[in-house]
Amino acid sequence: MLKENYFLIKNSLPADVELVAVSKTHPVETIRKIYDLGQRVFGENRVQELLEKHDKLPADIEWHLIGHLQTNKVKQIVKRVHMIQSVDSERLLLEINRQAQRQGIIVTILLQVKIAAEESKYGLEESEAEGLFRRYTDGEFSNIKIKGLMGMATFTEDNNIVKKEFQRLKLFFDKLSSLRNLDTLSMGMSNDYEAAIACGATSVRIGSAIFGQRGSSLP
Ligand SMILES: *Cc1c(COP(=O)(O)O)cnc(C)c1O
Repeated sequence: MLKENYFLIKNSLPADVELVAVSKTHPVETIRKIYDLGQRVFGENRVQELLEKHDKLPADIEWHLIGHLQTNKVKQIVKRVHMIQSVDSERLLLEINRQAQRQGIIVTILLQVKIAAEESKYGLEESEAEGLFRRYTDGEFSNIKIKGLMGMATFTEDNNIVKKEFQRLKLFFDKLSSLRNLDTLSMGMSNDYEAAIACGATSVRIGSAIFGQRGSSLP
């Protein structure tokens, strides 16, 4: 099942769209099976879980943090992640920059932008994201590399709503790209990745369509 699901998804994506396999709640043995099929990019939404899996699995995995990050956990995670997709506040951005400076590294991030009508608690308003990005292009945040944007559409069956939200994020992405080139637009999950790709996603975050439904006790 796992193998069939994986290749079904993988083969349905255009070659230039990156697949982030969202492995949250799934054990290392399961992740290992997908790794053995060639997948190297995995997404997790909790720091502790990411760190444990990071230490047990091959070092060439690129771990993406996709869930809300508390500032007090930044220190532990910056060296272990390939990218933090869920940068949703100025405070968090500053703390990532500070820890990256202390540890002598550059941390790659995406700015998470709020695009859903009301559901998502987390994410920057476009105006906030633009303000931070302008400061970045002016030379602030020297130990951060902003590669692009991440967004989550409203959870609804109504494809028109979802498409509108993705289109809006794509427009905003193009606007910021004109200030300084961005290359990653992360949008689309199991239930809406096709719409996201049609709207210009360069990276999709897919969990349940590969791994099956997650247990009900964990999100
Ligand atoms: C869990 C999660 C996903 C994957 O969701 P699926 O519906 O299982 O594909 C994608 N992005 C974020 C931020 C998530 O937390």
